[in-house]
Amino acid sequence: MKSTLLHKTAPQVAQEIHACIGCNECLLACPALAETISIDVLNRETLSGAISTPVARFARSCYQCGACVAPCPVGLHRDAMIMWIKVRLMRSERGG
Ligand code: SF4
Ligand code: SF4
Repeated sequence: MKSTLLHKTAPQVAQEIHACIGCNECLLACPALAETISIDVLNRETLSGAISTPVARFARSCYQCGACVAPCPVGLHRDAMIMWIKVRLMRSERGG
């Protein structure tokens, strides 16, 4: 089941971010998060604009375990959202 979550398009991820109620349950369940990051900042930086150092660090440490999915009360896929940050980081490292 988990692998299908890694193939969401950017519009699908954007739709999920707009549906996020900011409850923080996904981050509370995450074994890879080593510092406090606000959901608002994370959501804002997922699809566009600059990616701050803590968010980049978190995205790089995400190993797509999927533990953030089940706790979401509105059925969103934080793992897919974080995957998009990984993609954006890779693109920026390659110079666009
Ligand atoms: S998929 Fe990534 S963000 Fe989600 S719980 Fe696992 S490490 Fe954390
Ligand atoms: S658990 Fe779901 S609704 Fe809550 S902050 Fe995470 S993605 Fe948003």
